[in-house]
Order: sequence, then C-alpha cells, then structure tokens
Amino acid sequence: MTDSEKERLRVTQLYADMSEEELRRLADNATTLTGLGREALKLELSRRGLRIALHESSEPYDSELSNLPCPVACLEEWGRYARIATKDRFWKRYYRVLRLAPFAVIIFGVLRFFPESTSKVPIYIVGVSLVWAMVVAFYAFSLRLRADFIRCPRCGSRFGLGACCNSCGLPRSSATPREASLATDS
Ligand SMILES: [Zn+2]
Repeated sequence: MTDSEKERLRVTQLYADMSEEELRRLADNATTLTGLGREALKLELSRRGLRIALHESSEPYDSELSNLPCPVACLEEWGRYARIATKDRFWKRYYRVLRLAPFAVIIFGVLRFFPESTSKVPIYIVGVSLVWAMVVAFYAFSLRLRADFIRCPRCGSRFGLGACCNSCGLPRSSATPREASLATDS
C-alpha cells in the first residue's frame, strides 16, 4: 500500500467517525483542506445523503454569515427570486412556441395568399417575425441568467447553482437538504 493510499484510508476513516456538525464545519472551511481531503469529504457527505456544499471560494468563510438575520428561510421564499423563477419556468415551457409561432403563421400566410407576389411587403413581414423570434430567445436567455446569477438574500454573494448558497449555506427550497436528496433518489 502506498503512502497516499494509507493517507486516503486514514482520512476516510476520520471523516466517517465525525458528527454531522463537524462535517458541516469542515465543509465550511474546505479551502483549508488538501485535494485528497476535499475528495474524501465529498464522498462522506454524499454517503450520508447530506446536501452540504463545500466552501470553494477563495474568500475566507465567515461562519457569522450563517447567523445573519434573514427575512426568508430559503431562496425560493424570497419574493424577487420567486418572481424570476416563476417567469423563468413559464418561458422555459412556452418560449419555443412564442418564438416560432408568428414566423410559421406568417410563412404559411404568405405562401398561401401571395405565392406570386413581387411586392417586398411579405418579405418585411417575415423579417419582423424573425426579429420577434430573436427578441423572445434573448429575453428567455436573460431570465435564465438572472435566475442563475442571483445574489443570496442573506449574505449578498452569488448564490450559485447548488442546493445551498455557496457562501452561507442558505437552502434553495423549503424542503430540507435531506428531503431534497431523498426526493431525487426515489
Ligand atoms: Zn448566502
């Protein structure tokens, strides 16, 4: 057994014996761990089904952040995010139709009623429907970005894409991290 294998085994055993609270504290200070340590910690967290994000930022973790007063218990309760998320869901579902329906209808109309037309008007109309398609795609994309780059209501830094805020651990949804992981497992 090589030294690094021995070390891996030792660290894995060490984390396996830790309490959830100790693992959480370790994850909050993950930047101080070696690569091997971080890997072992991630494995142990997923083994226990804990949705705890490792603090990856180069800024030092401030454990005071997680005690900041915050008007919401999770990101989805926050009015501003909820509004963006609702719009985002709507647009994700319908934006293809909204984007291409006018174009399809206009193409159909032009071919049906002005097949021999030499006028430029039908071309302009088709052009307008294409511009519309681009505006819709851009709007849907910008909503996506606003949802993905939202700032955390508790600590003010980027929330990130995980189940919890990258910096302070505020959960994204009201389902506890444990329930969330069970829901995706089943
Ligand atoms: Zn935060």
